[in-house]
Amino acid sequence: MSAARDGFWGHSPDAPLDLGDLAAFEAESIVGRLADRTMPALADTLARAGNCSHPVRLAGRSTTIDRYTGEILSVFRSADEPLGLLYKPCGNRRDEVCPACSRIYARDTFELISTGLYGGKGVPESVSANPLLFVTLTAPSFGAVHRARKGKRPCRPRARIGACEHGVRLSCWAHHDDGDPVIGSPLCPECHDVDSAAVWQWHAPELWRRFTIALRRHVATTLGVRESELRKHARLEYAKVAEFQARGLVHFHALVRIDGSDGPGSPAPIPASRLTDVVRESAASAYTTAPPVDGRDVERVLRFGAQTDVRIVREGGVVGDQITAEQVAAYLAKYSTKSAGVDPTRPLPHHARLIDACQRLAARALAGCPFECGQRVADRHPRLCGVCVENPYALLGKWSRMLGFRGHFSTKSRRYSVTLGALRRARRRYQRIATNPRLAAAAKLDTRELEIQLMADDEETTLVVGAWTYQGTGWPRAGDKVLADAAAARAREYARWRAENRNAPTAHH
Ligand SMILES: [Zn+2]
Ligand SMILES: [Zn+2]
Ligand SMILES: [Zn+2]
Ligand SMILES: [Zn+2]
Repeated sequence: MSAARDGFWGHSPDAPLDLGDLAAFEAESIVGRLADRTMPALADTLARAGNCSHPVRLAGRSTTIDRYTGEILSVFRSADEPLGLLYKPCGNRRDEVCPACSRIYARDTFELISTGLYGGKGVPESVSANPLLFVTLTAPSFGAVHRARKGKRPCRPRARIGACEHGVRLSCWAHHDDGDPVIGSPLCPECHDVDSAAVWQWHAPELWRRFTIALRRHVATTLGVRESELRKHARLEYAKVAEFQARGLVHFHALVRIDGSDGPGSPAPIPASRLTDVVRESAASAYTTAPPVDGRDVERVLRFGAQTDVRIVREGGVVGDQITAEQVAAYLAKYSTKSAGVDPTRPLPHHARLIDACQRLAARALAGCPFECGQRVADRHPRLCGVCVENPYALLGKWSRMLGFRGHFSTKSRRYSVTLGALRRARRRYQRIATNPRLAAAAKLDTRELEIQLMADDEETTLVVGAWTYQGTGWPRAGDKVLADAAAARAREYARWRAENRNAPTAHH
């Protein structure tokens, strides 16, 4: 990074974009844009599509109508666009799929998490007095794996443990550096129960749900009230993200907040320290029963791992000294854009075993089918017969590329704060105001009022009627994507430079 002390290197109009090593066909296509003078049109389109890597190309028109008067407010035609089509950002959450769109997703996640921490956007600011915990729930062990450890500690220093029945020594004296691909892989692949790991991952969303149910029950018990009466005393809200660990199984990181009966900002009936005990109990007691995959399989009782980490972010008004609320929001936002770190074409060997286990178990579950459903398990959209569709493991193969995790990567309870949908709608409304001079002139509001208008839950006053046809995905020429990614990278550098040069303390990456 070469951000100069006195200014951002990318500010100068002469500053070239860093295009990395271009392939000949990419360079050729960029030269082509210069030759046929479509480069300015491309630059405009890149800006409008937010430098998305794989925008959706649409042809058609839409008309914005005032819902009440029927007046046509504006007409938008893709033919009038600089490149003759509408380029709509892909909106992908994953950093390696689309750096630009994943950044917006992370920013929205940060917004919605910090709104639940400090209030704003319709959430009362007194919410910052409600006790708040940062909880990490892990997967249990399915066999010893290699791990990176802090300090100069070896991986698995177990002198007294000899070899397993497969002749593998179940100790490892190596110091694995972060990023070492061996981290997360089993010491003995034969001893490692990969089938149970796949089944656990498949049921992990249900296990999380059971945890939230147990939590409500335990809080009711602590307060000495019936569970059905809990809402009259307290409300539990959470925001969580799932993160893949090196071994390929998910962790859940969650913010858990306790509010009073009137929701966000009303005084909580118990302090954070009591809630900590309750969360630990709930994590330890939550379980779900997974049915056997087939007649040769066993029923499994699935639980979280023993290492439940619970930290107090806020005792209630006072920021805890272990971690700051801001750090937590930044942390969760960052993990919302990570995926398995799995390249489906070249997965690490132990991830490949998990992928294989998902497909193998799904095939076993559907093996008895006379219509051979079991042979279609790895399809993206497997066509299954009426009987197989009902099988609880029918779609496990389809989700094998996600290592069997079918849950959402970030979720929150309804009253935690605002929703991603509301943030997106606010952005759409803002763009409509910003791009329409008439509306922009009318919207000379103070920012607070504008925010209220943007976040309003009510029915939209305008109606958008459109007719669109899908023309394809991605940029038309190879060099266009290179330019989009380079522009997105520069925007990211600039944001980082701005954050580092602000005097106020900023979130940590
Ligand atoms: Zn995108
Ligand atoms: Zn090791
Ligand atoms: Zn073994
Ligand atoms: Zn079938």
